[in-house]
Amino acid sequence: MQSSSPELRALRGVGPAAEERLLRLGISRPLDLLFLLPQRYEDRTRLTPLGALRPGQRAVIEGVIAVADVAYRGRRSLLVRISDRTGQLTLRFFHFSRIQQNSLAAGTRLRCYGEVRQGPLGFEMVHPEYRLLQPGQSAPLEDRLTPVYPTVEGLAQFRIRDLTDQVLNRCLDTLTDALPTAETERLGLPPLREALAYVHRPPIGADLQLLGSGLHPCQRRLALEEMLAHHLSLRQIRERARGDQGIALPATLPAADTLRSRFTQRLGFSLTGGQQAALADIDADLAQPHAMMRLVQGDVGCGKTVVAAAAALTAIAHGHQVAVMAPTELLAEQHRNTFQRWFEPLGVKVVWLSGSLRKRARAQAHAAAADGSAQLLVGTHALFQSDLAYRSLALVIVDEQHRFGVHQRLQLMDKGVRDAARPHQLVMTATPIPRTLAMTLYADLDTSVIRELPPGRKPVTTIALPERRRAEVVARVRDACRSGAQAYWVCPLIEESDHLESQAAEPTAAALAEALPDIRIGVIHGRMSSTDKEQVMKAFVAGELQLLVATTVIEVGVDVPSASLMIIENAERLGLSQLHQLRGRVGRGQDASICVLLYHSPLAEMARARLEVLRATNDGFEVAQRDLELRGPGEVLGTRQTGLTQLRVADLVRDADLAPAVQRIARELLATASPAVEELRQRWIGAGDRYGAV
Ligand code: ADP
Ligand code: MG
Repeated sequence: MQSSSPELRALRGVGPAAEERLLRLGISRPLDLLFLLPQRYEDRTRLTPLGALRPGQRAVIEGVIAVADVAYRGRRSLLVRISDRTGQLTLRFFHFSRIQQNSLAAGTRLRCYGEVRQGPLGFEMVHPEYRLLQPGQSAPLEDRLTPVYPTVEGLAQFRIRDLTDQVLNRCLDTLTDALPTAETERLGLPPLREALAYVHRPPIGADLQLLGSGLHPCQRRLALEEMLAHHLSLRQIRERARGDQGIALPATLPAADTLRSRFTQRLGFSLTGGQQAALADIDADLAQPHAMMRLVQGDVGCGKTVVAAAAALTAIAHGHQVAVMAPTELLAEQHRNTFQRWFEPLGVKVVWLSGSLRKRARAQAHAAAADGSAQLLVGTHALFQSDLAYRSLALVIVDEQHRFGVHQRLQLMDKGVRDAARPHQLVMTATPIPRTLAMTLYADLDTSVIRELPPGRKPVTTIALPERRRAEVVARVRDACRSGAQAYWVCPLIEESDHLESQAAEPTAAALAEALPDIRIGVIHGRMSSTDKEQVMKAFVAGELQLLVATTVIEVGVDVPSASLMIIENAERLGLSQLHQLRGRVGRGQDASICVLLYHSPLAEMARARLEVLRATNDGFEVAQRDLELRGPGEVLGTRQTGLTQLRVADLVRDADLAPAVQRIARELLATASPAVEELRQRWIGAGDRYGAV
């Protein structure tokens, strides 16, 4: 999709450089510019007398220069004092050229736009936009509010405004209204063209506060349409999957029943009510002759893996293969170990496949997939490389879904469809997704929720401490380890880079080793080979290591019940959900567990709010809900990681109340096979998305 676009180049002023910048903004067609909405607006439609200015206000002003001086106190700056009949104002420039300085001479009249602040000499504007006016000249004011667009470096606001002007003139009239008028009228929302014209160029007197909140009917109109487009696209995907032939796998098959009871008998615990209910949902789906598409949501530690394993045994008993995919090598390795431990005594062959396998091992794994001797394959994305063929793949289990995009997941599903029936898919996530959000984000999936944790878990006590109390924390780790406990010390990456991945953990480990000479310390980070990682993990599980210093590679899934203390450095830098995931690594065993969040003072308000949420609750659903409220879903779910990446207008928290309308309209459009469905998809999701294409 992100290739050269002749259409974009057809816009006045767009050459290769501008095109590249537009692509970076996600704009590959002129039409896309219409759906790049302003972040805010400026009111440049009227002059404010100097005497009426207030700090914090952005305003257009006019005045005559009284004095202009270079001041050397503090930072060298050019101070230009202007006045009108009502008052005075200082313009302050820290960067200025000689030419500029000369042009700003006493007696010159200026028109400026900027933000007013309280300065040492009264109100001032720092680096305002300005232009010189000839004596007697009166420059026209804007007749619309001025939009300020999100942009990238090298693409100035006035350029984007010019481009949107062109597109508004050219494309607006070609857009058809895809929503039923009865619905939009009922919701009090304007027609599409009106909404677009308004949000791009609001008239004088428009309610800036309402626009700023994103709740203006014109904005809501667009949000509704966008949510609808995504929802429709996902539903189509689902419908298509429904239409494909699937493999019916009734759990009532005697062989399946036997295999599963042998499995559960050996487990050493019985399934919780939530696990049983999720499994019942899955069994019902698997028995159908079309593909299951189910999401199992459950907080960290609720035991999703057992549920997946039971489902896998059903498919295996039916003589088919199962693929279990995890987002990281570490997590995939852990699943491999778990499944081997559980399945090999049952005579089920588990095969490992990851990107880091040597050529020969990989060839062996591929052969085992092709001849069917591999009954369960565990791995990373490598499970779905195009050169890998399965003999009979009937079930795909994707763990920690939020790490994969919707489309990435669907691509994987295509694997099984190639020549046989479409495999069932079971997606597991520990990111609890509120219902309204799930409905829109995962409209292609049915959902089962596991609400309870296995019995006997003790809630983790969470405390937040400033970095300056680090020594106390180190002492606490020492005491805990001496008394037989194990601990994690997590050093999040400050910057995203492979190189830094090791740097984040290694110096900390070295410093801790010095401070705690009698404690056995291991390090684990993403730059290590999988064999090295595995060795360290094994040593930690076996209790040979007492303290594991790690980057966030241990974030999801890692399960070491004997670890009961976790320290997270730079906690203020991490998001709520991520902190909750990390914290979920402790509190899995018999001992009461503690999670210490180390932070750097002073804490920003948002960071303080996040840490407070974690102190207050252990419930992943509540954490997720608060996270949504604090940050908005795009960030919570990770824009890169959800398939619903670019929600351009809608905010699924703010606009959640539109969800019922989205469903209603979707039903209507689908029932009448309306061409609007395709139009909406083209408009909002783009032409390059083959999964939406019919
Ligand atoms: P998650 O849902 O986070 O993936 P896991 O599947 O890793 O959780 O399970 C966490 C731990 O709880 C594992 O050690 C698992 O064996 C254990 N477990 C799972 N179900 C139960 C249960 N019903 N009773 C006791 N322990 C359980
Ligand atoms: Mg898990």
